[in-house]
Amino acid sequence: MKFAFLGTGIMGAPMAANLAKAGHTVRVWNRTREKAGVPGCVAVDTPAEAAEQSEVVWMCLSDTAAVEAVAAEMFAAARPGIVVADSSTISPTASRELAARWAEQGAAWVDCPVTGSRKAAESGDLIFIVGGEEDAVNKIAPGFEAMGQRVFHIGGNGMGLATKLAMNLNIALIWQGFCEGLVLAEKSGVPAEQMLEIIGATMLRSGVTDYKAKAIAKRDFTPNFPLKLMLKDIRLMLDYAREMRVKLPALETVEEVYAVADEEGLGNLDYAASLTLLEKWAALPGGDATLAAD
Ligand code: NAP
Repeated sequence: MKFAFLGTGIMGAPMAANLAKAGHTVRVWNRTREKAGVPGCVAVDTPAEAAEQSEVVWMCLSDTAAVEAVAAEMFAAARPGIVVADSSTISPTASRELAARWAEQGAAWVDCPVTGSRKAAESGDLIFIVGGEEDAVNKIAPGFEAMGQRVFHIGGNGMGLATKLAMNLNIALIWQGFCEGLVLAEKSGVPAEQMLEIIGATMLRSGVTDYKAKAIAKRDFTPNFPLKLMLKDIRLMLDYAREMRVKLPALETVEEVYAVADEEGLGNLDYAASLTLLEKWAALPGGDATLAAD
């Protein structure tokens, strides 16, 4: 199939590479041209150039503003038969509006955010959470096969994103709970390694803490999911919750923690580095160590 892939960041580059590995033609575009080199893919100069020659335009961009800007740049390519598959985590409402605008030209739009982070993007084991019309979702199935292990088609436009935000809300709160427990234990004199071992051996264990435990033990905050993107997601969740008339009191507090962490220069580290801000507030030595890792 002829694919375009827009946005070759942490997630997009391995996703595009897996499309090419599966035998598809892939034209990639990235705002920063030097980062557009992906094995097996052809780099092009504009989103429009990528879209004009493709049946499916896949995107994995930072945020709502980026998706809106890129969609506007390639709008001339909107035509019957083309499908835009957007794996960026953005506002469900904005995504529905984009889908409606493209539908006026006979083009389909599918929101298909992912879960699985860098490792799953590289191994082709992403989980896609999908919103859109059945026909369009079926048409892009070869893309799901090349890049993912499971697809959950939730409903119409925006439903993939609504689900994804609710999932990331869980991650943000699990991580905050883990960090607060760890800091209190550390301040009491419990070694972090022992606390991690106990968490791993009991019902406190979770996929999130399993995934992050090694990095915490090594104090390695190399970004898999940058803190600034988690902050962006938290703000999306709060905005969407306001639209839906849902109150999220714990998440409102977590937003403040991440906002300060970002202001303190931790935005490009993994969101796991939010731990170091709590350590700093508790006057524990780890707080300084993390800033040095930036
Ligand atoms: P990333 O490495 O920061 O990549 C972001 C991409 O968006 C880059 O290609 C960047 O281009 C592009 N971009 C940003 N602003 C733009 C603009 N105004 N116009 C055009 N392009 C723009 O981020 P990522 O980790 O791959 O995440 C991408 C999306 O996937 C985000 O929505 C994120 O929330 C979601 N996601 C990430 C993970 C994860 O674990 N990393 C997991 C699930 C979902 P440049 O190279 O020019 O900056």
